[in-house]
Amino acid sequence: MERLTSVILLLFGFTLFAFGQNSQKPSPQTIANQMVQTALAERQAYRWLEDLCTTIGPRLSGSKAAVQAAHWAADILTANGADTVWLQPVMVPHWVRGSVEELTVHAGNGHSEPLSITALGGTIGTPPEGITAPVIRLKNFDELKARRQEVAGKIVFFDFPMDAKKVNTFRAYGEAVQYRVFGAIRAARYGARAVLIRSVTTRYDDVPHTGVMIYADSVRKIPAAALSWQAADTFNRLLDQHPNVTVTLRLSAQILADTLNYNVIGEIRGTERPDEIIVVGGHLDSWDVGCGAHDDGAGIVQAMEVLSLFHRLQIRPKRTIRCVLFINEENGSRGARTYADFAKTEGRMHYAAMESDRGGFTPRGFTTSADSAILAQMQAWLPYLRTARIEWIRKGGSGADVSRIPNCPIKMGYFPDDQRYFDFHHSNNDVFSGVHPRELELGSAAMGIMTYLLSETDIQMPTGTNRYSTH
Ligand SMILES: [Zn+2]
Repeated sequence: MERLTSVILLLFGFTLFAFGQNSQKPSPQTIANQMVQTALAERQAYRWLEDLCTTIGPRLSGSKAAVQAAHWAADILTANGADTVWLQPVMVPHWVRGSVEELTVHAGNGHSEPLSITALGGTIGTPPEGITAPVIRLKNFDELKARRQEVAGKIVFFDFPMDAKKVNTFRAYGEAVQYRVFGAIRAARYGARAVLIRSVTTRYDDVPHTGVMIYADSVRKIPAAALSWQAADTFNRLLDQHPNVTVTLRLSAQILADTLNYNVIGEIRGTERPDEIIVVGGHLDSWDVGCGAHDDGAGIVQAMEVLSLFHRLQIRPKRTIRCVLFINEENGSRGARTYADFAKTEGRMHYAAMESDRGGFTPRGFTTSADSAILAQMQAWLPYLRTARIEWIRKGGSGADVSRIPNCPIKMGYFPDDQRYFDFHHSNNDVFSGVHPRELELGSAAMGIMTYLLSETDIQMPTGTNRYSTH
């Protein structure tokens, strides 16, 4: 009797299971097709990006626009299927460019020439009359060290371009950006009065590119600016032709007191494992030039669209899908730190976290810092992901924001085609017209498919992974 009951229950259970499989749950390939077609046809992320760029524009940390952008995103998430939306307060640095940024080269023969520059983010200003000094041109930090006796009282020009031989532009960026970030500290140590760099860009034009620079408490603060690629070429020509070149640098940048901004968080609660969270995110702030369309407007609207795609396609995820828009990625990562601290005490598990912060170009792959055993399981999903033109999933970093989330076994970065990103990055080139709707939307769909697979699949975790450990 007892055995018969078991058999009946087993059959009943199997029927329910089979029923559920056939009539309620579409295949992952069906979901992938729906996500790609819906994203391409409806262009929701693209329309949000246009709105962000035209009604709010650039949104540097500390600015009013950064607060407006937080409310803008929260309202959209609320109206597009998120069941919980909140703003997380974050105190952020507040740097302002001011209206003056001028570099004039005096060739020494009576000829003077203005060149296109941009103040680097975080720099102090110059006195109103500017700093006028001779120039020392250096190839790299090694040459700085070798010629350190010649630096005092001069303006250092680090002439270090991105390495065109590197196919992966992020590698070339990583190398060249050292001069932008650390140039002022290194040059000031030997008594330099200001520092100039070549813009870290792949585009040959007269538009300079900004980005964060930092100071050290132990070293005197000196002003820092970047020349456009064409301006750097002109400057080099003048330095080659004239032995006694001096320059006048004028910047009216200022560092103000920290101010209140917000991370934006919106989630769709999971039906079966609500305490296992999948973060999909980008950064809310941008530089104050252009309108941050690729960096990181694209990432913001893609992350928002992932939630919206689940809502529009009426998919109830097993795990909780959480869109996190981090403030202050560009100059301080305070948003990422605040979120990571919150994650430690929230008492829920970050099962996975994905970030889009490499522009809105055609999908190529995903990079992940996950364990190789986890990576191998995800690589089995490539047939579905290929629907959105994803070609690979590889070991690699995730992103500046999600990489700080503690005890998250699957952190990943969305990796679109990288050949044109640094044409736009941190400059007046980074405007809405530079983003292509189909490329952007395929990215939304790629992230949506990946989020769906993460939500519905139980990945075998390596032994030792404590699913709910928060420390
Ligand atoms: Zn970015």
